Amino acid sequence: MALRRPLDDRHSVYVDRHFPQTLLKKEGYRYRVVLGVGGNIGDTRRRMNHLWHYLGRLPQLSRIRSGVILRNPPFGFLDQNDFDNTVIEVATSLTPRVFLRLIWRIEKRFGRRRSFANAPRTLDLDILFFDNRKIITKELSVPHPHWDKRSSVMIPLKSLAHKGARRYYENLDI
Ligand code: ADP
Ligand code: MG
Repeated sequence: MALRRPLDDRHSVYVDRHFPQTLLKKEGYRYRVVLGVGGNIGDTRRRMNHLWHYLGRLPQLSRIRSGVILRNPPFGFLDQNDFDNTVIEVATSLTPRVFLRLIWRIEKRFGRRRSFANAPRTLDLDILFFDNRKIITKELSVPHPHWDKRSSVMIPLKSLAHKGARRYYENLDI
């Protein structure tokens, strides 16, 4: 069961089972990470709820909270379904490189197949923020490029903002 609030003819905000949700904070992890979560094949919101439970069973991270879900049009390759996007904040002690490999495994576990840029996908996990670090390597750009220009990031992220999400971008370590 979900509540839907239309923003305009192509954008809607959904409040669903675990989105948004806030859990009690766990101590003992070194970093805090905001993940962007997206998909547009099949029942993405149902998959996001499964992901929430799946993350709850991983010893490498601890869930902190989730944002609302935004239904929004695709960009780049336009001939595909609208996307559902949300954000999930977690705590971890993995380094960015190792954390990236973990999210690749999770994407695969949720049926992600790589084809072409901006292609339809069951589950896309992006590292939006890793503490307030700036990382530019061959395989990682953090904060995620254009995060501040995309409503698919900004609207779910703003639903966390009053709970401290500003810490990630107010003091970006450049
Ligand atoms: P996109 O998310 O741009 O649609 P993919 O999910 O296929 O594309 O990711 C392509 C590559 O982007 C990944 O293999 C990864 O190395 C790289 N990448 C760069 N920065 C990030 C980031 N912040 N989070 C996740 N992947 C990233
Ligand atoms: Mg990605």
